[in-house]
Amino acid sequence: MAAAATSSPHSMLLHRPSPAAPKAGPAAAVSSIRLPARAAKISCAAVAAPSAATSPFAAAGERGVYNFAAGPATLPLAVLQKAQAELVDYRGSGMSIMEMSHRGKEFDAAIKKAEADLRALLAVPDTHEVLFLQGGASTQFSAVPLNLCASPAAPADFLVSGSWSDKAFKEAKKFSAASLAWSGKDGKYTSLPPLTSISQNPDAAFLHICSNETIHGVEFKDYPEPTNKNGLLVADMSSNFCSKPVDVSKFGVIYAGAQKNVGPSGVTIAIVRKDLVGKAQPNTPVMLDYKIHADNASLYNTPPCFAIYICGLVFEDLLAQGGLAEVEKKNQHKAGILYDAIDASGGYFVCPVEKSVRSLMNVPFTMAKGADLEKQFIAEAAKENMLQLKGHRSVGGVRASIYNAMPLSGVEKLVAFMKDFQARNP
Ligand code: PMP
Repeated sequence: MAAAATSSPHSMLLHRPSPAAPKAGPAAAVSSIRLPARAAKISCAAVAAPSAATSPFAAAGERGVYNFAAGPATLPLAVLQKAQAELVDYRGSGMSIMEMSHRGKEFDAAIKKAEADLRALLAVPDTHEVLFLQGGASTQFSAVPLNLCASPAAPADFLVSGSWSDKAFKEAKKFSAASLAWSGKDGKYTSLPPLTSISQNPDAAFLHICSNETIHGVEFKDYPEPTNKNGLLVADMSSNFCSKPVDVSKFGVIYAGAQKNVGPSGVTIAIVRKDLVGKAQPNTPVMLDYKIHADNASLYNTPPCFAIYICGLVFEDLLAQGGLAEVEKKNQHKAGILYDAIDASGGYFVCPVEKSVRSLMNVPFTMAKGADLEKQFIAEAAKENMLQLKGHRSVGGVRASIYNAMPLSGVEKLVAFMKDFQARNP
């Protein structure tokens, strides 16, 4: 295969020498990554930027920047490096995993390993299917009621704790008699109700929650139980999936877009209790029917092969870290120092979310001195190679997303920067 590649005019990229490592500064670790020259230039421009030599803060991440994006979000460097090493010639096949049949032995092994590792990570019981789907978590907003409600007249409960659960609720109204069990809207989505005081419909087919509101930074620390004995708990876990152990057996359905904690966009993972499969409303589009995907081991049609493969690498990485209990400890520590810094700022930085439900993944905060200073904060942080800190356009402010792959050093650097910024702009 390699011989064929060398003779192709398109193969030049493969044979460009690895770029020299930056002489000093935060990007030094990048030197071990073999990038084509063009990509290397982009990377170096980003990392060489302002501050390696002059910044009062710790060096930036291994790639020269800390990426606080809410999703698509930072991935573990080791995963990207492994994917890079295997990109052109996947495990001796002479093809990338993007170029081969999704029914061939290589991809078959990759998807099976990804599923097995995810099952190990989350201790997914045999009672539940693991499905790799497409359409984003947003597609599950309709797939859930279509699969779990016998007809559009069947009741379902929604706990609306932020923008994402609100979207799920609105979509579900098309396919079920969805009603509001609780809304945090009046409190600007900064709290959750006591779990026992949610006004559930005793006939609801399911109670839907968003376990972590990515925009508002509200996270369930424990989960409500449906009052309907046959009712199900359903969770959109997009932004805290695999950030901590979860008792999967408590849930009828868990779904998550991959692009925050476990991979690139393009794949949505659904963990569905097996006895719920095969009961979709008759007019359910085939691609939204869990049974089709369960019967075909997520290979009914062409799956997002590359995204699934990357998720598999992330699952391996999380297992190598000691599993989700270890990952949770790291996440608690990272979030702890950031919230402490906010709370110790004397009101300069403000996190509006009630302490007991603050997210370990998405930390939104505002600045008492107003939006102009927030803009300045975000711009100056970017100059220090801390990127994508702008709050969601619907709420403004600042948001630091600190998913699994955000190193502790990134949060420490942000905290040091916050203190310095406050001192300079009292
Ligand atoms: N739910 C949550 C909690 C999210 O954060 C997002 C995306 N940011 C979505 C659903 C929608 O996901 P997707 O873009 O994959 O449809």
